[in-house]
Amino acid sequence: MESLGVLLTYPMDSYLEEELSKRCKLFRLWETPPEKRREFLRANAATIRAVVGNTAVGADAETIDALPALEIVASFSVGLDKVDLAKCRERGIRVTNTPDVLTDDVADLAIGLAIATMRRLFAADRYVRGGAWKAKGDYKLTSKFSGKTVGIIGLGRIGWAIAERAEAFGCPISYYSRSEKPQTDYKYYSSVVALAANCNVLIVACALTEETHHIVNREVIDALGPKGVLVNIGRGPHVDEPELVFALLEGRLGGAGLDVFEDEPDVPEQLFGLENVVLVPHVGSSTWETCKAMADLVLGNLEAHVTNKPLLTPAL
Ligand code: NAP
Repeated sequence: MESLGVLLTYPMDSYLEEELSKRCKLFRLWETPPEKRREFLRANAATIRAVVGNTAVGADAETIDALPALEIVASFSVGLDKVDLAKCRERGIRVTNTPDVLTDDVADLAIGLAIATMRRLFAADRYVRGGAWKAKGDYKLTSKFSGKTVGIIGLGRIGWAIAERAEAFGCPISYYSRSEKPQTDYKYYSSVVALAANCNVLIVACALTEETHHIVNREVIDALGPKGVLVNIGRGPHVDEPELVFALLEGRLGGAGLDVFEDEPDVPEQLFGLENVVLVPHVGSSTWETCKAMADLVLGNLEAHVTNKPLLTPAL
């Protein structure tokens, strides 16, 4: 792979970066200030044949247009919402992602966020650390997670893994997808509003597309209601964030556990003081084990591309 010019768009994983710099001719996009990037891409356009992006910076139309020799986009993520897939299709550029290897971690986090939100784990932790237990006595009562109805938007790899975990907590499962899945008797709803109205915990686990942008809007939030909890481990733009903030501030929604946000790393500061909200910085797949497996998939796909072998995880 020594002759393969690879554009790494963002400092996503040190092992991946080290391996790419050993095996290929590596270009680190973030080392060039934004206003000089067009010039940087033009200067290296003949050499860059691969882009490795992630959920922060992928391969948009402008980047693809600036790289006439581009042959493959290998994403360090399963979601491809930061890759201009139409443009890749048009140019015959191959696209790979990192499915399956991250499923367990993201599903674990979804359940963790639901429990942390309902049992107020972080507020209770602050109660101990701040000395309030000694000063004020026992912490207040919270909501039970086991046995509550869990509604899942998107019964894909991660959605299924969440459902299996929630079942172990005795939770009835319902879901919304574009079509009913014949292989399960989980309850299917053909509208997100109906799903939200009939569950206690609503978990977003679908892909981000034009259709699923703001799939959780005011109507869905109101259907979930003041006792309902929203968990988002999909993508920030799945949720109409200003509507979510209003609903939480006004007590129209019971709580939220959020891994992803509309304008990362900016998070609405109105949420910081709410103890029924748990906020984590897009860490769904961020474990040593999973990031190593994701990096190996990216490297394996690039290796397969240059040696004319079948791609490990083609996405187009
Ligand atoms: P997947 O197996 O491809 O599942 C995607 C699901 O999205 C499918 O079940 C699909 O259901 C559903 N979907 C697509 N369009 C839809 C629509 N218009 N309405 C309703 N559902 C729709 O992908 P996955 O591996 O489970 O990953 C799912 C998503 O999780 C990724 O795309 C990514 O955004 C997110 N993710 C987040 C993190 C994190 O760190 N927080 C990490 C990894 C992934 P149907 O085809 O049945 O409609």
